[in-house]
Amino acid sequence: MGILEGKRALIVGVASNKSIAWGVAKAMHREGAELAFTYQGERLRSRVEDFAAECGSEITVPCDVASDEEIQNVFNHLDNYWEHADILVHSIAYAPREELRGEYLDSVTRDGFRVAHEISSFSFAALGNAARPLMQGVNGAMLTLSYLGAVRTMPSYNVMGPAKASLEANVRYMAESLGPEGIRVNAISAGPIRTLASSGVKDLRKFLGYVEQTAPLRRNVTIDEVGNVAAFLCSDMASAVTGEITYVDCGFNIMGMAGI
Ligand code: NAD
Repeated sequence: MGILEGKRALIVGVASNKSIAWGVAKAMHREGAELAFTYQGERLRSRVEDFAAECGSEITVPCDVASDEEIQNVFNHLDNYWEHADILVHSIAYAPREELRGEYLDSVTRDGFRVAHEISSFSFAALGNAARPLMQGVNGAMLTLSYLGAVRTMPSYNVMGPAKASLEANVRYMAESLGPEGIRVNAISAGPIRTLASSGVKDLRKFLGYVEQTAPLRRNVTIDEVGNVAAFLCSDMASAVTGEITYVDCGFNIMGMAGI
């Protein structure tokens, strides 16, 4: 029997078969969870419907997190299928491309800063709040995806660093708000992986090469490895874990200086 047998999980953030959310969906499906998916706009609709079908799901709902109405509509729609939801996976981020190159202070703008924080961090609180009524009495779990750039400087990551720092603080504050309702809130800080979103970061190739040469495991992480940890964190096996940022990065975050 899988560790998520009988659980229902909403997956927000599948855009391609390289998406971290897809790695999470596959692991959760394998572990027995029933899944529902959102997609950002018509452009992604049929692709996400196909991914949902691969997981035996017919539940797909549009959701652009810039819209409170679309967020609320997701849960109104889910209400037609599910009496409750156990798991919310938030795997989305966005910053305007021109903010993700050059030096931080040369590229950051008022608007870029606002958008990056709204889409990448506030949206987790907004989705969490909207999911809350469906997660009462089930010992639910919420999970988001962060990156080391939240706590260390990274070339070209720029405004996404402060946005991920905000997301990680959001995890702690949401864990405190929702803990009395039995809902746990955690994040995985994943190592770099080539996806549609990460391709927006200039020099991603160099990030991947650097990790491969210096991380304790001397390689990069896969979406399936992130998915496995996500399934564990959202299962009852992790029932006492909340407010945590768990690194799934082949150990890269522990390094001070690589071997000389
Ligand atoms: P991805 O491009 O596959 O997924 C990003 C998702 O964000 C897409 O599904 C996109 O539709 C969604 N999105 C963006 N703006 C949105 C909006 N306004 N409304 C709704 N959805 C929106 O890329 P990914 O790398 O799988 O990213 C998923 C998460 O993982 C992000 O939070 C990212 O920062 C994080 N992460 C990625 C890496 C990496 O190297 N790829 C490393 C650590 C953390």
